[in-house]
Amino acid sequence: MFVKIPFNRPYMNGKELFNIAEAKFGNMLAGDGPFTKQCHGWLEKKTGSNKALLTHSCTAALEMSALLLEIQPGDEIIMPSYTFVSTANAFVLRGGVPVFVDIRPDTLNIDEHLIEAAITPKTRAIVPVHYAGVACEMDNIMEIARQQNLAVVEDAAQGVMSTYKGQALGSIGDLGCYSFHETKNVISGEGGALLINNSQFTERAEVIREKGTNRSRFFRGQVDKYTWQDLGSSFLPGELTAAFLSAQLDDAEKITAERLKIWNKYHVLLENLEFDEMLTRPHIPDDCQHNGHMYYIILNKNIDRDKVIQQLKLDKINTVFHYIPLHSSPAGLKFGRFIGNLKNTNELSNQLIRLPLWIGLTEEMQLRIVESLKSALKIARK
Ligand SMILES: *Cc1c(COP(=O)(O)O)cnc(C)c1O
Repeated sequence: MFVKIPFNRPYMNGKELFNIAEAKFGNMLAGDGPFTKQCHGWLEKKTGSNKALLTHSCTAALEMSALLLEIQPGDEIIMPSYTFVSTANAFVLRGGVPVFVDIRPDTLNIDEHLIEAAITPKTRAIVPVHYAGVACEMDNIMEIARQQNLAVVEDAAQGVMSTYKGQALGSIGDLGCYSFHETKNVISGEGGALLINNSQFTERAEVIREKGTNRSRFFRGQVDKYTWQDLGSSFLPGELTAAFLSAQLDDAEKITAERLKIWNKYHVLLENLEFDEMLTRPHIPDDCQHNGHMYYIILNKNIDRDKVIQQLKLDKINTVFHYIPLHSSPAGLKFGRFIGNLKNTNELSNQLIRLPLWIGLTEEMQLRIVESLKSALKIARK
C-alpha cells in the first residue's frame, strides 16, 4: 500500500553532470585542475581556514593528519569510542594507540571533562568528533591541548556547514577533516577535505598528498623539477569528483536549509513522545549551529530497539543504528585501550535509532514515520 521510505537518498541538483562534462571537454581529468581549485577556494572562504585540500575521503584526510603529526608507534591519541572506524584506524596505521573516552549523554560527543585524566606522557593528540554535525566543547578542548602541548584534529566528517560560536567546524583545531561521502550532506560519492588551520603543516601537507613529492611547488613554478621529498601517498581526488563536488558546494546553503527544515519537523513531531518518556530527542547546545545532518532518537531503556527497527521495516520504513563502540570491537580491543567504564557509550549506542533524513522526504512521509514509530514503541516495550 505505502511506498518504501529509504533511509538515505543522495541529493543532486543536476549541475553536477554539466560540470563533469565541462571537465571532460577541458581534457583535465587528473587531480588539482580548475574544479579542485574552485572547491579549495570555496572551502577556505567559507570556513576561514588557511588552506583546504581536497582528498578522496575523510578517511584519507585523517590519514594525512596522522602523517603530518608524525605519529610514532606507541603514541597515544585521545578520541571517543562512539565514532566511525576511520577516526581510530588512520592513527593505528602509523602505530598509534587510540585511547577511548566516554561521551556526553546530551550530544553524544566526547566528554571534555574526561580528557585530562586520559593524558599520559605518550599522548600526542586529541581527536574530537562532531557527532551529527553538532560541535564538541571546543573551547575546553583547545585549552587542554594548549596547556598540555597536544595537537587537535577535528573529525568534522559530519560537520560541513556547522559552526561553534560562529566558527566553522573543522577550522578550530590544528587540522580538520571533512567528508563528502554519499551519506553526508554535501557529496561527491566518495570525497573529503583536509583543512589546515595551523600553517606549520601546509607545505608538508601538499607533499604528503602528492605521493611525497613537491609536485605542487613545481606546478606553481617555485622549483624547476619535482622529486621525492618525504612520506606520502596519492590522497587527491580526480577532477570528475571535484567537478561534481563544486556543483554541490554552490548549493550548500540550500542543502543545509532543506535538511534543517526536515530536522526541525521531526523535532516538533516527536516532542510528545519525549514527554511520555518513550525516547529522548537530540540536544543542540546554545553555542552550536548545526547542519541537519542526522536526526536520531534515544529510546527509553525499557524499549527493544531491534524490535522497533523491525516493526518500522514492516511499514516499509528503513531506519538504522550505529556505532558498535570501537573499544568493544575486535580491532579496538587489539589496537586501543579505554579509560573508565564508558557507560554512556555502551548504553546509548544500544538505544539509538537514526530516522530517514534526505532532501525530498515529504512532510507526509515524516508524519507516516512518526505514526509508525508510535505504534512500534508500544509493541517493542519490554
Ligand atoms: C563518514 C565519517 C568518516 C569517514 O568519511 P569517509 O569520507 O567515508 O572516509 C569518518 N568519521 C566520521 C565521524 C564519519 O561520520
